[in-house]
Amino acid sequence: MARTDAIVLGAGIVGTSAALHLAKRGLAVTLVDRRGPGEETSYGNAGVIEGNTLFPHAFPSGFGELLRIALKQAPEANYHLSFLPKVAPWLLAYRSNTRLEGSLAFAEAMRPLFSRAVSEHEALMAEAGAARYLRKDGWIKLYRSDEAFEATTRERELAVALGLNQRALSVDETRVLESSLMPVFRHAVHWPDAASVSNPLAVTKAYAARFAALGGVVLNGDAQTLHRSEGHWRVETDEGPVDAREVVVALGPWAPDLLGRLGIDLPLMFKRGYHRHFAPRGNAGLTRPVVDVANGYCLAPMEQGIRLTTGAEFAARDAAPTPVQFDRLLPAARDLFPLGEQLEAQPWMGSRPCFADSRPVIGRAPGQPGLWLDYGHAHWGLTLGPASGRLIAEMVTGAVPFCDPAPYSAERFNG
Ligand SMILES: Cc1cc2nc3c(=O)[nH]c(=O)nc-3n(C[C@H](O)[C@H](O)[C@H](O)COP(=O)(O)OP(=O)(O)OC[C@H]3O[C@@H](n4cnc5c(N)ncnc54)[C@H](O)[C@@H]3O)c2cc1C
Repeated sequence: MARTDAIVLGAGIVGTSAALHLAKRGLAVTLVDRRGPGEETSYGNAGVIEGNTLFPHAFPSGFGELLRIALKQAPEANYHLSFLPKVAPWLLAYRSNTRLEGSLAFAEAMRPLFSRAVSEHEALMAEAGAARYLRKDGWIKLYRSDEAFEATTRERELAVALGLNQRALSVDETRVLESSLMPVFRHAVHWPDAASVSNPLAVTKAYAARFAALGGVVLNGDAQTLHRSEGHWRVETDEGPVDAREVVVALGPWAPDLLGRLGIDLPLMFKRGYHRHFAPRGNAGLTRPVVDVANGYCLAPMEQGIRLTTGAEFAARDAAPTPVQFDRLLPAARDLFPLGEQLEAQPWMGSRPCFADSRPVIGRAPGQPGLWLDYGHAHWGLTLGPASGRLIAEMVTGAVPFCDPAPYSAERFNG
């Protein structure tokens, strides 16, 4: 039986960053996953480090938009009918949280994390030898209608008030930045302070390698085996049981499987998403991710090709993939950018772990001494992994946290 100061369960970008931050503070740490680091949700994202984010993803407000989703014609969202009764209460809470008041509350609560997102990645990348994956040229959101662009006014005003850079672009100005985009949109906004990575999997693996270089131990094991044993937490791994006083649960969409068993039932939902890689046609290319807001997809240049990621699908996490959104959005995507050959036979699917207020849970697990939570990062797990990792490590080690962790507490779901 091995003894260590802390066990981190889950080696996605969130858990790996937490483990690395704990190791940097001198703790003996074991990082446990049933797969290799970064191989689940943290593999397939669009690679955007959204330091610019202010508001949560909007809930569709117009009747036409809702009707298209209900009729399963919307490219930006899909759902499984059988899942609707389960997701309906969560969707109502989500809708309330994404109205203006809720959006402003989200912006205030999350700014300390988002504002450090890029710099925390840069610091880890520098020590992990991963800086070559980082592009610091922002991302671009494209709007196909004047109304959709005008709907961004409040958020852009807030950005100005907070000193965040953003630039509204004409079609021609956008095409100076990204010459392969066709003029099928009417407006664009460039957020230059965001960053992106060309290979999210490689970034997580580089952080895991840095963790190991600092003496951290990466083991295969089943987080579900976690239990209390002689005053410690114990988890079973391929190398035998490992004990520790502190455990950080960073299991992303799988966190409820373990926490439910420990009597911790927090209202996590899943927004499933897919990606496919395409070769660009001819000498077309992208230098940074672009989002076609009306159709809910992102085109992100990756080492593997142009990665097209879809918007949300509301379905049980483990239900069979139904990648119908590609059929709905591909005509629009091909009009926007010369997508060539599709590079894999099957799309990749992952589940964004989301609370209805779009905030993660970072902090103590209620009623379980020594258990810590770091999950539910929704659309921003890549973005927030390192900043969350610093915060949880500061909390676990009793240091002064760099920001007030109260907005991320699990206690917010009480009452
Ligand atoms: C299509 C799509 C696009 C996205 N684009 C972006 C983006 O551009 N920018 C951004 O910031 N975020 C983006 N996201 C969100 C981001 O990918 C997630 O928030 C993030 O990956 C979550 O990281 P995680 O470490 O919490 O979870 P994961 O990466 O899923 O890690 C959880 C780990 O737990 C392990 N695990 C589960 N069960 C067990 C068990 N029983 N025993 C042991 N190990 C277990 C898994 O193997 C996994 O490695 C996107 C998501 C999707 C789906």
